[in-house]
Amino acid sequence: MPSRRRCCKTLCQSCKKKCSGEVLRVQDKYFHTQCFKCKVCGNSLAQGGFFSKDGAYYCTADYQRNFGTKCATCQDYVEGEVVTALGKTYHKKCFTCDRCRQPPPDEKVTYTGKEVLCQKCVQIPVRDGTPKTSPTTNHANGKIAVN
Ligand SMILES: [Zn+2]
Ligand SMILES: [Zn+2]
Ligand SMILES: [Zn+2]
Ligand SMILES: [Zn+2]
Repeated sequence: MPSRRRCCKTLCQSCKKKCSGEVLRVQDKYFHTQCFKCKVCGNSLAQGGFFSKDGAYYCTADYQRNFGTKCATCQDYVEGEVVTALGKTYHKKCFTCDRCRQPPPDEKVTYTGKEVLCQKCVQIPVRDGTPKTSPTTNHANGKIAVN
């Protein structure tokens, strides 16, 4: 898109009136500062973070309430780096083996029917006591959640 538009020729995407004064540019769209609001709560999004979905804009809280995914472990909303496994979504830090409580190397886990086990634990026969595992540094390479 040619970027020769001046702000006085630009229509506000929200009220469809000419933008004048302070104008916000969001991706390739323009808004009056006061028109760039959360679709749900109407709070200004001119400051701070926002999310967009299907052409609408949301504050972080409302976006999460409407479209957010909750971590299967801590029930908090996940943002940024997440791990999805077995149809569930986890914070990277919450995605741990049910037995050794370590983040699984390579994020590979096996669901046994009742437990999510890392590749090491799944090979250890079930018996009482804590299996010995050496802590493994998990590589910082989660999947980015983009809805
Ligand atoms: Zn406007
Ligand atoms: Zn809101
Ligand atoms: Zn979590
Ligand atoms: Zn394990």
